Amino acid sequence: MDLELTPEQAAVRDLARDFTDREIAPYAAEWDRAERIDREVVRKLGSLGFLGLTVPEEYGGSGGDHLSYVLVTEELGRGDSAVRGVLSVSLGLVAKSVAAWGSEEQKRRWLPPLCSGEAIGCFGLTEPGTGSDAARLTTRARRDGDDWVLDGAKTFITNGTWADVVLLFARSGSEEGHRGISAFLVPTDTPGLTRREIHGKLGLRGQPTAELTLEDVRVPGSALMAPEGKGFRVAMSALAKGRMSVAAGCVGIAQACLDAAVGYAGEREQFGKPIAGHQLVQELISDIAVDVAAARLLTWRVADHIERGLPFGTEASVAKLYAAEAAVRSANNALQVFGGYGYIDEFPAGKLLRDARVMTLYEGTSQIHKLLIGRAHTGVAAF
Ligand code: FAD
Repeated sequence: MDLELTPEQAAVRDLARDFTDREIAPYAAEWDRAERIDREVVRKLGSLGFLGLTVPEEYGGSGGDHLSYVLVTEELGRGDSAVRGVLSVSLGLVAKSVAAWGSEEQKRRWLPPLCSGEAIGCFGLTEPGTGSDAARLTTRARRDGDDWVLDGAKTFITNGTWADVVLLFARSGSEEGHRGISAFLVPTDTPGLTRREIHGKLGLRGQPTAELTLEDVRVPGSALMAPEGKGFRVAMSALAKGRMSVAAGCVGIAQACLDAAVGYAGEREQFGKPIAGHQLVQELISDIAVDVAAARLLTWRVADHIERGLPFGTEASVAKLYAAEAAVRSANNALQVFGGYGYIDEFPAGKLLRDARVMTLYEGTSQIHKLLIGRAHTGVAAF
């Protein structure tokens, strides 16, 4: 793995860094309090080409490699995890799945607006009764002539109330488990599909998270994505790369923790000197710095494997597990550096901790990633 960025990768990283510093970071606290990021920022992500990274240019994408995608995702995560999540889901889980699995018609219909930011996608896998054990989902898809009719409920859906299209997973066959699951691209204005925003989240407050209810939702046969019964493979392949994106977002959080803690420790004085001069404060900062570096390298390794066509599933689990736990640790350490002020909304540490906390829960909890890594090493499934 070459750790030196190419000029193109460095340029895209600098563009994302500059955009984050000017157009995201200064507003993140305000959006968090208002429980809504500015929708315009999503269009800007599109016009900068960030929402089309790795998608072929013939479908409106901006090409680029997976490390460029990681670099941009890290920068956005440094500025505001709520913004980063919109991209990770709309591009990382939905557009990339359409590019990989969609029919020509589906690619032509959905990729240009998703890459420009005119449209937003959401990923409908989790249900009230099935989270980690997604293969037991119960949303039904039944054939009616050339159409499909969908019934069921999804929950915790990022971008849910904003999205124009949901990549929805439903049980189309009588088979139990993952074999009976199919993937559908469902426009969110289809009659029978209702959305309710979930309020009161601990973090990621600027990002809409929703419950979706499907009652007799009729879609044409062309809404089926990938062969019938292959939906779980679509979901798992999306999530494997999605984990790299979450890991990159976590690196961004940890970097923001480092920046904030170093800045504050240099200014705040106690016992007649800046707290940066106290060894135990330096320990907190050094722990964050080590976590940033380790999480970043593990995340880059996933991008490197993807680019070289190597297996990357276990590497993605390792990176996501480590980076998520590192983000939580780093935010906790940063808050400690801020002392009592870390507990007050005016300072950044509290939001970083609230936003970091979900990272060990979604796109596979830390426990599930430990089981995946354990299975990869032992050959024994402990689910
Ligand atoms: P459960 O699966 O019920 O797990 C509860 C606890 O049990 C966890 O600690 C878990 O690790 C543990 N556990 C479960 N099984 C095992 C086991 N076999 N061994 C050991 N421990 C186990 N989903 C989507 O489909 N699309 C989205 O866009 C999306 N966005 C989200 C956004 C937010 C803010 C949140 C909070 C969630 C989102 N999710 C989304 C759902 C998320 O992926 C699930 O919450 C996650 O998969 C965990 O499922 P669960 O919450 O049902 O927890």
